[in-house]
Amino acid sequence: MSFQPNSPAARDVAYFLHPYTNAKAHEEQGPMIIERGQGVYVYDDAGKAYIEAMAGLWCASLGFDEKRLVKAATAQLEKLPYYHTFAHKAHLPGIDLAEKLIQLAPVPMSKVFFCSSGSEANDTVIKLVWYYNNARGRHAKKKFISRIKGYHGVTVASASLTGTPVNHPGFDLPLAGFKHTSNPHYYRFGQEGESEEDFATRMANDLEQMILEEGPETVAAFIAEPIQGAGGVIVPPATYFEKIQAVLKKYDVLMVADEVICGFGRTGNFWGSQTVGIKPDILSCAKALSSSYLPISAVMMTDEVYQPIAQASADLGVLGHGYTYSAHPVCAAVALETLKIYEERDIVGHVQAVAPRFLERLHALGAHPLVGETRGRGLMGALEIVADKATKAPFDPKAGAGALAYKAAAEHGLIVRSIGDTIAFTPPLIINESQIDEMFDKMHKALDDAL
Ligand code: PLP
Repeated sequence: MSFQPNSPAARDVAYFLHPYTNAKAHEEQGPMIIERGQGVYVYDDAGKAYIEAMAGLWCASLGFDEKRLVKAATAQLEKLPYYHTFAHKAHLPGIDLAEKLIQLAPVPMSKVFFCSSGSEANDTVIKLVWYYNNARGRHAKKKFISRIKGYHGVTVASASLTGTPVNHPGFDLPLAGFKHTSNPHYYRFGQEGESEEDFATRMANDLEQMILEEGPETVAAFIAEPIQGAGGVIVPPATYFEKIQAVLKKYDVLMVADEVICGFGRTGNFWGSQTVGIKPDILSCAKALSSSYLPISAVMMTDEVYQPIAQASADLGVLGHGYTYSAHPVCAAVALETLKIYEERDIVGHVQAVAPRFLERLHALGAHPLVGETRGRGLMGALEIVADKATKAPFDPKAGAGALAYKAAAEHGLIVRSIGDTIAFTPPLIINESQIDEMFDKMHKALDDAL
């Protein structure tokens, strides 16, 4: 395509290397330029409205024009636009946010470490776990086990945890010491005649086998999203985490809950860990912590994890880890206001109130000839698009459902995310029932178009 000289599209193609984008296709296709947002809608530079069924990247929980967050940011910018938290320095937004997160944690937690993104949070998890085991004299106990199709970020180490197909090829990843165990997607990986319960047992056995093969004295931690997001919204079988955690306990392996998507009400409880029965030793969160208006993430740890870390920092003279933007005061102020809004508006109660409609409309699409499976919890759902319902043959093994998602936006004003053959929905948590209907009506039309 040729772009008008010096237009935003031409300049974008000329200068901007986009994340998670086919760079060559982009040169032809050009950008979709989003100019403004209101509630659950965003508008492009031609004024066209889109219902944002993904809340951006699973994150803008309060939609796209929450004025209170703008005010909170502005007030903090005027008072103290930046300060750091190294070497005993602190500021009130950071202190208040740490206290609040500890109060909200799904299990008793002791301390919070702040970063700016989900990737940095999980990188921090890895480093703190290594530090913790060194402090305890367990120098060999360093390996991480995550899951095939798990998503934990893109820094060198967090991308090594990630198990989605595009994050390792071409990057010389994963690093040594990062292993990926089976994916608990029953529809795809359940065997003929196997019950969900037996499938969950097999998943736990796979994990145990991996720990034994690696040597339990070398395995430090297991990390999982309560419900896998970017791997395709995989809801685990009911007893999956109970069985997984029994294995972890047996071999003294830490349980890390990656709540970057599931935290803050998404699954119908405040934490995804509560929805699926995880008791984490460490928890990472980001995204909806600030409704993503500003970048901030956090790692929480139990006292059992904190104490050896604290002792090692004393022995070594300092905890040699931290970011310029750890607990950035403006980001922390926006996060605090976000959490206040969640409480005042009972956002979890709202999710519980509208989730039945969301799930009813999602599951109703299961009758469509192109939909092999529907799955979801709370306001997190997905359709698995297939070429043949009976054989579960993939819709398009190479391109997946990307073209379908692209056309849904272009022709019906619906932004969804395609992940291989999966179409995901995680709308802003403020969505109402009529907007849920609008979203799925549009999706139905987009599916009909693809027949
Ligand atoms: N963990 C999970 C579960 C995620 O979904 C993501 C991003 O989507 C990350 C970590 C990485 O977060 P970020 O993109 O902020 O680095």
